[in-house]
Amino acid sequence: MDDLRELYQEVILDHNQNPQNFGQLEPATHSGDGYNPLCGDRLSLTLHLDNDTVTDLRFSGSGCAISKASASIMTTVVKGKSVAQVESLFDAFHTLVTTGNPGDGELGKLAVMAGVHKYPARVKCATLAWHTLKNCISGSEKMAKTE
Ligand code: ZN
Repeated sequence: MDDLRELYQEVILDHNQNPQNFGQLEPATHSGDGYNPLCGDRLSLTLHLDNDTVTDLRFSGSGCAISKASASIMTTVVKGKSVAQVESLFDAFHTLVTTGNPGDGELGKLAVMAGVHKYPARVKCATLAWHTLKNCISGSEKMAKTE
């Protein structure tokens, strides 16, 4: 239980109860869904990409505290970032939740998710929002080419 309490830090519980950027952007330039069958987490993302910069984004869905908090924190961190910065953050975040290594500080608020690395089954919960974001960005680029 102590370990679990460590994982479900106050920040995570807070984001789970009061998620940031929750809802749907209307209209959005990009959208996508994510699903983590291991836990049953479902996530929908809508975002505005302007000149390769994520100017705004929202998420909705249902899932465990980790998936929801991770999505909530992610939306606050990637807003205003370029696609390249998002990809770099994703790599750093993936390292954090699989090894616990917070890197050089680029992660900021995301560092609260470090405890996840002790729970391999939870890694997919924590990274669901990021995978969805990545698919979202690349998926709509393909769609945009058909226009
Ligand atoms: Zn989950």
